[in-house]
Parts: sequence; C-alpha cells; structure tokens
Amino acid sequence: MTRYKCECGKEKDLAKATIVLIDGKWVAKEALCECGLYMDSKPTEGMPSLKRTEPSLSKKNDRLWKDTKEKFLN
Ligand SMILES: [Zn+2]
Repeated sequence: MTRYKCECGKEKDLAKATIVLIDGKWVAKEALCECGLYMDSKPTEGMPSLKRTEPSLSKKNDRLWKDTKEKFLN
C-alpha cells in the first residue's frame, strides 16, 4: 500500500498503481485527484515532508520510480 498525496492536501492509499507517463513525469494513473492533479507518492517511513526536496531523497525516489516502472514492464 502506497500513500499518495496531492498538492491540494487530499490523500489516497493505493494498493496497486498503473504507472503512466504524463507530461514527461511518471505518475500513478489511479492517483489522479479530483482537482485534476496527479498525487505524488510519499515515503512511508515517516520522513518529514520538509526533507522531500533533498537531492539524496529525490534520487532515491527516482530509483523507486524506475524500479516500479521496470516491474510494471516485466
Ligand atoms: Zn488535488
């Protein structure tokens, strides 16, 4: 289960996500918010959201996305 959060503040838990490329960004198709934006997945370890933009963390997120994409393609 992965928690997705929208910029508008809404959250959604998705057990399964279909990763699609929208506007040059990999997003979960099921994570489309009612406001029209795609929600971002958050690390579940309880990391402070302020640290979200740290280079090391976004690198980790990129890798997660790649892993997810590869799993999806396989
Ligand atoms: Zn929203």
